[in-house]
Amino acid sequence: MRWRLFLLIALLCAIPVVVALWAANAHVVNHWLLVHTGTVNEPGPFYGFWSGFGSDLTEFGIIGVIATGVYQLVRKFNCHEPGCWRVGTHPAAGGQFLLCYRHHPDYAGTKPTHELIARMHREHLEQQAAIRTRLTEIHEHLAGKGPAAGDGRAASVAGPPDSARSNPLP
Ligand SMILES: [Zn+2]
Repeated sequence: MRWRLFLLIALLCAIPVVVALWAANAHVVNHWLLVHTGTVNEPGPFYGFWSGFGSDLTEFGIIGVIATGVYQLVRKFNCHEPGCWRVGTHPAAGGQFLLCYRHHPDYAGTKPTHELIARMHREHLEQQAAIRTRLTEIHEHLAGKGPAAGDGRAASVAGPPDSARSNPLP
């Protein structure tokens, strides 16, 4: 965060310096710009601009789009720990974050060893089996009761009894 503030201050200080240097050497800078944008020694300044520097504006746009795409890809796949440039390949917090092995809480800053991978795989399988067993128990519990067991909900969902419906309106 501090280097960004430093960069911003440096940029804000550089702008007036550049403007002052340009104003002090206006003739030289303007001539340099005219030559390098292709707007000198032509029938008109706009013709020279559009057939020179101006014809490259589309390419600048394409380069900008490609650069933005590359930046977004880097932002997507690099480690979500602030300031880390490694590729984040390990999901954390249920996939909300992609972290490198150094910043993932399960790996304690070291590359995952074979033993750690085997242990975590075994724990994952045990957890999945426990969830499956518990779901099966719940399913059997619910299937065993069913609506015929009569907990009162079936009747209330079906509506009032026929005798109540056949009553004439007042
Ligand atoms: Zn990282």
